[in-house]
Amino acid sequence: MAQAKQITPRAKDFSEWYGDVIAQAQLADYSPVRGCMVIRPHGYRIWELMQRALDDMFRATGHRNAYFPLFIPMSFLAKEAEHVEGFAKEVALVTHTRLRATGKEGAGAIEVDPSSELEEPLVVRPTSETIIYAMFAKWIQSYRDLPLLLNQWANVVRWELRTRLFLRTTEFLWQEGHTAHVDEADAEREARTILGIYRRFAEEWMAMPVITGVKTESEKFAGALRTYAIEALMQDNKALQAGTSHNLGQNFAKAFGVQYQTAAGGLEYVWNTSWGVSTRLIGGLIMTHSDDNGLVAPPKLAPVQVAIVPIWKSDDERRQVSGVGDQVKTDLEKTGLRVELDVRDSLKPGAKYFEWEALGVPVRLEIGPRDLASGQAVLARRTGGKTPTPLQGIVGAVTAALDEIQAALFAAARARSEKNSIRGATKAQFIEFMKGGGGFAYGGFCGNPSCEAEIKQQTNATIRVLPDPEFRSKEAPRTCMWCGAPSVTEAVWAQAY
Ligand SMILES: [Zn+2]
Repeated sequence: MAQAKQITPRAKDFSEWYGDVIAQAQLADYSPVRGCMVIRPHGYRIWELMQRALDDMFRATGHRNAYFPLFIPMSFLAKEAEHVEGFAKEVALVTHTRLRATGKEGAGAIEVDPSSELEEPLVVRPTSETIIYAMFAKWIQSYRDLPLLLNQWANVVRWELRTRLFLRTTEFLWQEGHTAHVDEADAEREARTILGIYRRFAEEWMAMPVITGVKTESEKFAGALRTYAIEALMQDNKALQAGTSHNLGQNFAKAFGVQYQTAAGGLEYVWNTSWGVSTRLIGGLIMTHSDDNGLVAPPKLAPVQVAIVPIWKSDDERRQVSGVGDQVKTDLEKTGLRVELDVRDSLKPGAKYFEWEALGVPVRLEIGPRDLASGQAVLARRTGGKTPTPLQGIVGAVTAALDEIQAALFAAARARSEKNSIRGATKAQFIEFMKGGGGFAYGGFCGNPSCEAEIKQQTNATIRVLPDPEFRSKEAPRTCMWCGAPSVTEAVWAQAY
């Protein structure tokens, strides 16, 4: 661990704080390549745990994993008009395949070999709809081949000029699901099923409450019929789009000729969905729970769930407390928990506590000679509080504490999100709210894109979703919060990442 550095308090500078938490917890680092990040082992472990949980849910709903190429012929991207429009300004292109020596020294020692120019440039995938549906056209013949439910775990590249670790990087890791269906209803059901999985994952695993709903035309995915999203409110009251699920309609099927023979013998285009979550979720996890002492990881996704720190003065004591610590570690690991025993001689206990806290470890067990004499350990929670706990039955106590912490983190995040939401505000109140730090603002919307654009221009707030019924206000708004025209739907606005 690097020398302990002060973490900038959230209240002072949220963005600095975010960077400090990541550095202290050794989650990620900036790379020599501008716009790209290196995910360090502690951060990558969180991603692996997220992957495992999500992958189980995808599998349980009938999806299978596959892998498609990193490179996409440039002409593929042009086949769906809205799609190319949406991604044209952020693609990385491969145009040559060879370098050659120049005979010079230093940076000029090699150059692009002009004779290696590709006939057709290759796009580094920003997303894989085009290459996957080109394959679907080959694989799908009849209604018996449907639904086709695939998922891919991969990296994608979207050329970004501004970088924020986990939130906005040129290359990021994600999963992208791609499915084909016989009709609109089945595609719609799929898009909704996935939205439900994303919500469940966010709430049950990340302890991050979300609002679900549909995006407006201006915020939907390029080429989609409809985009659904989960949106969460971070501690700085900015919204984070944490996952999207698209009903693509027949747009891509028509562009790539994905047709199937119906039961009646006719020929129809399939209906597609695509959906994804990315390493951005790690940014969401950090900004939902962490505090001025560093990372707070929800127990279910914490790379280390329990850190055992024995305390000793003499060699004799060291042997004793370490021996008991080792036994407790073994017992905890038998129940599937992720445990570390910290017997480093190079650090004092206080310094060890500080480290495990910055790493976000939910539970720390301190075992000193006096604790041992009374048959107990001290159970310290990352979220506050120390309790003497009998060694007899300590596995049960630790498991219960982890469950409580998981639930308490969710409850606290939900209370914070609700506290920073307003409903039924007037235009003036809305402007005031967004100026004063913002949050989720629920209100009537006339459905007019120019109204939406004006709000964005004046307040920097965008419609995050048109919320699903369970999130809507009890009384449907009658007029547009901004222009006063009749409201066609309720909307949730926020300034967003
Ligand atoms: Zn309006």
